[in-house]
Amino acid sequence: MDLKKYVTTVEGWPKEGISFKDITTIMDNGKAYRYATDQIVEYAKEVGAELIVGPEARGFITGCPVAYALEIGFAPVRKPGKLPREVISADYGLEYGKDTLTMHKDAVKPGQKVLIVDDLLATGGTVAATIQLIEELGGEVVGCAFLIELEELHGRDKIKGHDIFTLMKY
Ligand code: AMP
Repeated sequence: MDLKKYVTTVEGWPKEGISFKDITTIMDNGKAYRYATDQIVEYAKEVGAELIVGPEARGFITGCPVAYALEIGFAPVRKPGKLPREVISADYGLEYGKDTLTMHKDAVKPGQKVLIVDDLLATGGTVAATIQLIEELGGEVVGCAFLIELEELHGRDKIKGHDIFTLMKY
C-alpha cells in the first residue's frame, strides 16, 4: 500500500515555514491505519519489544494499536502536569518550540526492552528526550518506529546508535 497517498501536507501550519504532515487522514481510513500499524507490529516483533512507549499525543494514536496487537503494555510520555503520580523529566527542543517531557517513575521496569513509537521524526528532540527518560528508568531502547521521517532535519543524527524504522521518508 502506498501510505503517502493518505498523508496530507499542510503548508505554513502551525507557523510560517513549517510543512505539517497531517496523519489523521491515515487514521480515518481503516485499511491504511491497519496497514501502518501492522508494519510497526512486525518491526516490534523483530526487535523483541516488551513495552511500547509513545509521546503525546500522536505517539498514542500510533503506538497504542501496536501494543494491543502484541498484547504488551503501553506507557505514555507526556507534557508536565499531566501524569498524576511521581514523574521524571527531560527537556527537549522541537522543530517549532521548546518543551519538557515526563514519564511515571514506575512506567518502565529495569532491563525491559522498549520500542518507542511516534508519528513523525523531525529534529529528533522528542525521541532523544524519550530515550533519556526510558534509560534513566533502566529500560533498554531496542528501536524507534515512526510513520514519517523528515530526512532534511537529520533527526537520526541525534539518536545515533539506536535502531530506527520509518514507513515513509520525505
Ligand atoms: P522532533 O522532536 O523535532 O523530532 O519533532 C517530532 C514531534 O513533533 C512529533 O511528535 C511530531 O508529531 C511533531 N512534528 C514535528 N514536526 C512536524 C511536522 N512537520 N509535521 C507534523 N508533525 C510534526
